Amino acid sequence: MNDDLIIRMQDVTKVYKSGSVELEALSGLNLSIAAGEMISIIGASGSGKSTLMNLMGCLDVPSRGLYEFGGREVAKLNPEELADLRNRSIGFVFQAFHLLPHATARENVEMPLLFAGMPAKKRRERALEMLNKVGLGPRAEHLPTQLSGGEMQRVAVARALANGPRVILADEPTGNLDSRSGKGILALFHQLHREGVTIILITHDLQLARTCSRIVELRDGRLVHDGADLPPAPTGVDEDEGGFGERAAG
Ligand code: ADP
Ligand code: MG
Repeated sequence: MNDDLIIRMQDVTKVYKSGSVELEALSGLNLSIAAGEMISIIGASGSGKSTLMNLMGCLDVPSRGLYEFGGREVAKLNPEELADLRNRSIGFVFQAFHLLPHATARENVEMPLLFAGMPAKKRRERALEMLNKVGLGPRAEHLPTQLSGGEMQRVAVARALANGPRVILADEPTGNLDSRSGKGILALFHQLHREGVTIILITHDLQLARTCSRIVELRDGRLVHDGADLPPAPTGVDEDEGGFGERAAG
């Protein structure tokens, strides 16, 4: 059973310090995610979602508590092992796409392959394969500025997939997209999930969250809900985009 756990957090706390001020962004979190799950993490702005993503993605370490990725305690990995884990096992998708502006779609997708040491010809083939997978084969030589938001996010998904990660971590991946493009990206995640990739979708859009088979809610850095359904009542209002307020509509 534990062999199937890709993520295990035990009593994880994250404290940010700036000068003499301490802010506890996550408090005593217990969360395990099995390989192949598709889980959404919801919560109002400031509830700790991105902090949790940074920990899960091995971009940061807990202040206290245990975090294991694929059965390995992340705090004990050396910088090289960490970089390798992030590059090969985890695919990141961010709200703001984070594409290199002067590189083509294909070159952007090749980037993690370059870091992994893949030779140029294979890189190119793999990048084109991934772009085809997300429906962007014909746009391979376009620059980000020549693509729509939805297309840019597809490039980011192709890049996240390049090294064949076990987990895709997406932080508000539809936050900058119109609802139609957002649904397209969500459909893509569901397709990847069917193919066996573990998907962790951070969102404050409850419509997206409810399409996942497991929903976890954070409130003030604490895990307040973990179940197959949405939490029973709206628990927060996100000033940025009003996602939590959309509940009544759905
Ligand atoms: P969310 O993604 O749910 O909006 P965050 O994880 O970004 O929430 O933030 C959780 C809390 O931690 C907020 O109060 C935020 O201001 C604070 N915070 C986030 N990142 C930092 C940081 N690097 N330094 C100090 N405080 C931070
Ligand atoms: Mg955030």
